[in-house]
Amino acid sequence: MTANLCFDQIRLPPQCESLRREVRAFVAEEVAAGTFDPGRPHQGDSHNRDFSRRVGDKGWIGMTWPKRYGGHERSFLERHVVTEEFRVANAPVRLHFVADRQSGPIVLKYAPEHIKLEILPRICRGEVCFVIGMSEPGSGSDLFAAKTKATKVDGGWRINGTKIWTSNAHIADYMLALFRTSPPTKENRRHGLTQFLVDMKSAGIHVNPIYQMTGQHDFNEVVFDDAFVPDDHLLGEIDAAWKQATSELAFERSGPERFLETFYVLVELIRALGPSPDLRGAEGLGRLVAQLHTLRRMSVSVAGMLQSGKEPVVEGSIVKDLGTLWEQELPKQVRRLAAFLEPDVTNRATLDEQLAFATAVAPKLTIQGGTTEILRGIIARGLGLR
Ligand SMILES: Cc1cc2nc3c(=O)[nH]c(=O)nc-3n(C[C@H](O)[C@H](O)[C@H](O)COP(=O)(O)OP(=O)(O)OC[C@H]3O[C@@H](n4cnc5c(N)ncnc54)[C@H](O)[C@@H]3O)c2cc1C
Repeated sequence: MTANLCFDQIRLPPQCESLRREVRAFVAEEVAAGTFDPGRPHQGDSHNRDFSRRVGDKGWIGMTWPKRYGGHERSFLERHVVTEEFRVANAPVRLHFVADRQSGPIVLKYAPEHIKLEILPRICRGEVCFVIGMSEPGSGSDLFAAKTKATKVDGGWRINGTKIWTSNAHIADYMLALFRTSPPTKENRRHGLTQFLVDMKSAGIHVNPIYQMTGQHDFNEVVFDDAFVPDDHLLGEIDAAWKQATSELAFERSGPERFLETFYVLVELIRALGPSPDLRGAEGLGRLVAQLHTLRRMSVSVAGMLQSGKEPVVEGSIVKDLGTLWEQELPKQVRRLAAFLEPDVTNRATLDEQLAFATAVAPKLTIQGGTTEILRGIIARGLGLR
């Protein structure tokens, strides 16, 4: 057995604290101006074009990217702070978040220079929404079974097929998509997929809504009916996207958004318990906060390892596995503790409303971005157990 597991002991440096104060002041201003309500994650849109532009003006999108492309050459740890503050405030970051977290880095690594110069500065300004076009009907966890076909034509590629569960496709400008350019080979069943940058405004792309259990419209089915993608929108090597797609997933899995999605119920519980909780409340709260603290240390550690150029794929998968199970379990734990609250607690109605919403959101948390079983397979392989 080869155990290659290592969470570097990393703490956030002092400059992160001044940045945190800046982000909190910005959030407070936005809340005061009525842009969003941190206590009401179920109300209002989770995207807001003007808000994304203001975040871009602050320099908080593309923070780690080169200045040449509109980035700010700051650290992954500083980016961690911004992500964390926006997530706990339930800020409407949906429009720019995927581009900032994972699509931008892929464009930066694989796109031709003129595309990088055209698109990356726009991402940094908070102007464009990217979506992930991996899953298809019949190809989710096993994304290398994708069938949506790209056929070579004059000057580009003709696309036919269907993607599914595409978050934000209804507001998207671009999709980073995996399309089949050749059949898989006997030696390598992952062979034959190529990554493309797709302009979502192109002819032949139809976006059909799929509604969440909460009634919200987050994801979609995207049908490609003879859509055209030009040659210079092909990213990386033809037929070899399997090498690229897995590095995209490493960016996707370890951030604070992977354990803070239901955090608001913990905040509301703290409010309800007040400054002198009884023994049961204090013990339950202490346990939850200790678990959260540990997850946070692990997530900061992964951000630090990304900063030092490492590829912490196993560690990132562990953060996502433990983090999503924790945020999924949180509404249940809060409900258990809330059962013992005094009946006249002033924020009871808000807590109940938030619990109902978090409970409906919880099932998706261990599916999106890779299921628990898939993550455990990756972790087992990384530890030399399979
Ligand atoms: C809220 C949300 C947003 C999403 N957004 C996007 C998006 O923007 N873009 C995108 O491309 N996709 C998106 N997805 C899709 C998501 O990535 C897939 O749902 C996920 O990869 C699982 O695929 P599947 O639904 O086809 O399930 P399947 O792959 O069919 O899995 C079904 C069950 O079988 C288990 N399983 C499958 N294979 C194995 C195995 N080898 N070993 C052990 N167990 C296994 C799984 O763990 C799961 O429990 C989103 C999903 C959700 C819930």
